[in-house]
Amino acid sequence: MPHCQILLHAARIVTQDAERHVLDSASMAIDHGLISDIGTTDEMTRRWQADTCLNLGKSLILPGLINAHTHVAMTILRGLADDMPLMDWLNKRIFPVEHHLTPRLVRLGSLLGFAEMLRTGTTACTDMYIFEADVLEAAATAGLRCLAGEVVFAFPSAACPTPTAALEATRDLVSRYRGHDRLRVAVMPHSVYTTTPQILAACRDLAAELDLPLHIHLAETPEETRVCLKAHGRRPIDYCRNLGLLELPCSLAHVVDVTEEELAVLHSHNAVVVHNPSSNMKLASGTAPVTSMLKHGMTVALGTDGAASNNRLSIFTEMRRAALLHKLHTANPVSLPARTAFDMATLAGARAFGDPRLGSLAPGQAADCVALDLTEPNMQPLHNEISQIVYSATGMETRLTMVAGEILYQDGRFTRFDYPALCEEIHDLQHFLRKTAGLA
Ligand SMILES: [Zn+2]
Repeated sequence: MPHCQILLHAARIVTQDAERHVLDSASMAIDHGLISDIGTTDEMTRRWQADTCLNLGKSLILPGLINAHTHVAMTILRGLADDMPLMDWLNKRIFPVEHHLTPRLVRLGSLLGFAEMLRTGTTACTDMYIFEADVLEAAATAGLRCLAGEVVFAFPSAACPTPTAALEATRDLVSRYRGHDRLRVAVMPHSVYTTTPQILAACRDLAAELDLPLHIHLAETPEETRVCLKAHGRRPIDYCRNLGLLELPCSLAHVVDVTEEELAVLHSHNAVVVHNPSSNMKLASGTAPVTSMLKHGMTVALGTDGAASNNRLSIFTEMRRAALLHKLHTANPVSLPARTAFDMATLAGARAFGDPRLGSLAPGQAADCVALDLTEPNMQPLHNEISQIVYSATGMETRLTMVAGEILYQDGRFTRFDYPALCEEIHDLQHFLRKTAGLA
């Protein structure tokens, strides 16, 4: 009889495999971080001998969700700046606080954000921020997957005095994490309006040299388009195309102010778009034409953006908002079904993350999964699993989160770090943060 490390049993498994199988009374065999086999519990218990059997009872197992755009350390800015326009929000509240950030604050904020992600079913994220080495340290502590990059600005950040220093920090991260199973690095210029053509060219060259993907905020608002046209005579997507950025494997956060022709350009370059419905709604940036993107055949993943503009880091929230927002926007209730929203958070997320082992549960795939408690009142009765995941769940039904076969969260407990101690440290920071934001 073949042997595996873990045999996981549950009432349902939503696989997201090529046939989109949903299995009743099902089990998953896990060995060395990968799924060895998946099938009904009857078959699997006859077929496999395991070191550990974990019976999750009335739970629904799904692939771990992927948050394809965030600034995880911004949890410490949560609630400091709400109900403001993007440029005021950035310049009057966010940048002044960020100017005072330290590696320790970034580590604490990141660990809090990773705790929230694990608690709400996210197993991988793309993160752009300052002191990204400390974000990655927090990710190593929490155990989830992270594609990270030191943000590149034309002006000094608290972490890097120049864009060259930010690119050097990126290079250092690559030498530290090259070949790591869970932690990876990308080049991350912040946006077209906070950089110059020379800086973007340097980002492009570094990504090409080190064979890294590129992640940037792009075409987020009509104001960005106006500023880009005035400064460079081109709209943001054409400006990036002209600089050769789209030749790289890239994921683009937002892509709200965009034309049909520009979508065709992005599609022809295989660019992945990351849709952040909560952030776009809260900052009134506009509605990304996601249904048009999908019609073009583009890959559209989901992101939360930072906690200062959401204020949650739950991909369950983003799936639900994406499905609702585009129905309203197109005045068509079939324009973005639950199935599509779920695909965005899983299969498209895996493409944004650049790891084909993620996003589905099948033999050979990474054992990254989440179990939802089906005994919660909002999860009953269970007529349609995908509907329940997208429309009914909030994320707080998560009772187990696993990455590479390792349990990182289970029934109220984080396995890798002392969550109550983290809460105390976060509590002690509150006065300092309010003062730096000019609120105390
Ligand atoms: Zn962002």
